[in-house]
Amino acid sequence: METLLVFLALLGVTSTQQLFVGDQVLRVSARNEEQISLLGVLGEQEELQVDFWRHPNSPGHPVDLRVPFLTLQGVKKFLDFHNFSYSIMIEDVQELLDEEKESMRRSRRIKRSSRTFDFASYHTIDEIYDWMDVLVEDHPSLVSKIQIGQSYENRPLYVLKFSTGGRNRPAIWLDTGIHAREWITHATGVWTANKIASEYGQDPSVTAILDSMDIFLEIVTNPDGFAFTHSSNRLWRKTRSINAGSRCVGVDPNRNWDAGFGGETSATKKPSKLSARAENPGMETLRDPLWISSSCPAPGAGSSSDPCSETYRGPHAHSEREVRAVVDFIRAHGNVKSVISIHSYSQMLLFPYGYRREPIPDHQEMNELAKKAVSDLAAVFGTKYSYGSIATTIYMAGGTTIDWAYDNGVKYSFSLELRDSGRYGFLLPSSQIVPTATETWPALLDIMVHVLEHPY
Ligand SMILES: [Zn+2]
Repeated sequence: METLLVFLALLGVTSTQQLFVGDQVLRVSARNEEQISLLGVLGEQEELQVDFWRHPNSPGHPVDLRVPFLTLQGVKKFLDFHNFSYSIMIEDVQELLDEEKESMRRSRRIKRSSRTFDFASYHTIDEIYDWMDVLVEDHPSLVSKIQIGQSYENRPLYVLKFSTGGRNRPAIWLDTGIHAREWITHATGVWTANKIASEYGQDPSVTAILDSMDIFLEIVTNPDGFAFTHSSNRLWRKTRSINAGSRCVGVDPNRNWDAGFGGETSATKKPSKLSARAENPGMETLRDPLWISSSCPAPGAGSSSDPCSETYRGPHAHSEREVRAVVDFIRAHGNVKSVISIHSYSQMLLFPYGYRREPIPDHQEMNELAKKAVSDLAAVFGTKYSYGSIATTIYMAGGTTIDWAYDNGVKYSFSLELRDSGRYGFLLPSSQIVPTATETWPALLDIMVHVLEHPY
């Protein structure tokens, strides 16, 4: 252990990138509501730095958490003490990060002309932005690049527009990468942009869609966060805005929309101070009992008001420039008929609401469309997706993109959670990029064709 720490310190001075040597991702199953609350309490212990990859939801659903090497023993002791069953999904997070980096290096070493692009590799923001220009040059009568704003750190927010003409046609909005660490989504966005451009005039569905509608695709929706995942911390999720009065940076841009923003987290269970102490003695082995004096909302339920939380909703709705830019764009456009916001991981196709449990008026139609989409997705490689409303399929979440879109008149609002179901989580090997994008395509096409055939 000491050798490892010395090793870590040595590495630390030679690299500006945060290391995750010895960190593990544990898959925990919570048997009952009490265990869900206990996981919530665990997540609230800031010094343990437990990073939920899949949040506690309801009994029976897996919960994935990344635990830093230094607190691993304590966390495992806590889980054992409270009779959780768990397995180790990732033995050493850094090993996967090293492999990922090596495969990016390999891809770069292969000599390519400036016009070829390795869709089977992950790329930096500069590489993606350069490639977007190439795509526009190659398809000048179909694809254009527009800038809808600037990020907090003044990076341009670019959107690809696929259009065959007309004025303010009905439109479909797609975004990927609003959560920075979900690299498979940016990669799928790139592949999909290329697919749309190359299938126009070939594939009858794509041709029909683009003959009467426009498609907008924002690939790097959270550019500051994405750049940070490459330069400093591969597992960064939020934006990079400074939070006044806090040492913690960033807002969860998928809790920042003005739809159920900051709403009461109805799934939240706060263990009472005394009973929490009585029921959770294992916690005291982890830290001083200070935690008992703070409230312990279950993470993932709604959103958080704590700037240090991964689901911090921000000081007010649309506080994040990256969110505001999309809001302004969709409002100014006025004819957006579908919003599809792409995330990873856990293989789901979701629709509103996240901030309330009641079904939307269009529930049946959305549910049937989702069912068809996931079945066509599964037909490609057998990848199984679940589907349903956010609140009933994952958990209550306030301030999400698609709830805002739906509440603002965009009926066909969907969110995808791409591969995988947890083996690699956010660190999906690049060998799975093309298969993931390939199987997602028919699902996207199902939604887009449905939008075309159901004008409103
Ligand atoms: Zn996400």
